[in-house]
Amino acid sequence: MNNNPWVRSQAQLQKVAKLASLPPLLLARLMNPDRIVTVSLPIKMDSGQVKTFSGFRVQHNDILGPYKGGIRYHPNVSMDEVKALAFWMTLKCAVVDIPFGGGKGGITVNPRELSQKELKELSKLFANRIAPIIGPTRDVPAPDVNTTPEIMNWMMEEYSKIVGKPSPAVITGKPVAKGGSLGRTEATGFGGGYVLEHALKKLNLHKKGMTVAVQGFGNVGYHAALYLAKQGFTVVALSDSKQGIYDADGLDPKEVLEHKQQNGSLQGLGKMITNEELLELPVDILIPAALENVITKENAAKIKAKVILELANGPTTDDADIILYKKGIPVIPDILANSGGVCTSYFEWYQNMKKLRWTKQEVFDRLKKQMDRVTDETFAMQKKYQTTLRDSAYLLALKRLQTKKRQ
Ligand code: NAD
Repeated sequence: MNNNPWVRSQAQLQKVAKLASLPPLLLARLMNPDRIVTVSLPIKMDSGQVKTFSGFRVQHNDILGPYKGGIRYHPNVSMDEVKALAFWMTLKCAVVDIPFGGGKGGITVNPRELSQKELKELSKLFANRIAPIIGPTRDVPAPDVNTTPEIMNWMMEEYSKIVGKPSPAVITGKPVAKGGSLGRTEATGFGGGYVLEHALKKLNLHKKGMTVAVQGFGNVGYHAALYLAKQGFTVVALSDSKQGIYDADGLDPKEVLEHKQQNGSLQGLGKMITNEELLELPVDILIPAALENVITKENAAKIKAKVILELANGPTTDDADIILYKKGIPVIPDILANSGGVCTSYFEWYQNMKKLRWTKQEVFDRLKKQMDRVTDETFAMQKKYQTTLRDSAYLLALKRLQTKKRQ
């Protein structure tokens, strides 16, 4: 099967469109982005030399509301990857039931090779060039790989200058002092925890004494591990890009983070394991929270977890999905499992639009309520169509896209 994410995502869409008897016009709209804008970004480097970068914004679909999705800075971002990510944003926003469509964007650049001054100039120029197609009710970007709250703030400042008034709602993921939402940092990991706890009840599995392995100890993996450890799960394995660690008695995510910050690696904590070994551990819950395509036809048959919670985008290949389904291992799909992030971005936009400021607890309470409801709705779809949770989440998204009018 094809591992090109765009080809895969379109094949999945066509399969579920059949199940949902999707009207041909809606299917045609979802099969390709509404708009792709490419911009040229010449900047003067510190050396005095002029260098031109390319940037783009993919606006996939706005049936449910303004396009929404991150901006990625990477030297070899492929257009197919960004188109797939924009498509998944359309579905993710629909699943989590927020009034946003799907988009994604990026600049072909390695930000580590730029000085702070060059990075700021490039980010401001990008915001300037895409300003005609973005806006609080048109397209609301956010951070993604290698982009930060500070970069979001520069873009927001540039856009506000162009429109002649402060416009914090044009972008999310801003620093809290500049209109960002409390709780956004924790939201994807905690939101995944809420979905998991609710899904376990639906699956008649009891969380007491359950063991967890998390691949990827970044923002998402760390906060998921932190939340689940607090809720009484035993986190027995964690990993980063270099290696994994295992301790049958349980790891304290906070201690692991401090250790990593002090020593630059996970080495010295528990038994060292490889990322491949982590995926095949005899644990109850397996959480891929790093990269795409890590659960494949080569390792799916060896997975022993009772439930998989996809916090990374696209961690399971199509072949692996079929193997896991036959083995009876439920996969809680990315567009549901990690949608707590974009849901809280919506909360940020909403607070900006209404000039409100919610406390962190208020954000978590609202997030939990929303994640519990949309998890229930996904399971209801599964009951109706007797299919995988991934198909069920797609069916739920397509149902909302079919029945809701743009707000
Ligand atoms: P991050 O950069 O903070 O962390 C990524 C982690 O993955 C790091 O610990 C890194 O060491 C590890 N990693 C990298 N390569 C690896 C490899 N080959 N094997 C194992 N681990 C590896 O990123 P993040 O924000 O935590 O995002 C993680 C995943 O979650 C991505 O797929 C992202 O698209 C997805 N996601 C993130 C958010 C969000 O709000 N941050 C929202 C939805 C989905």
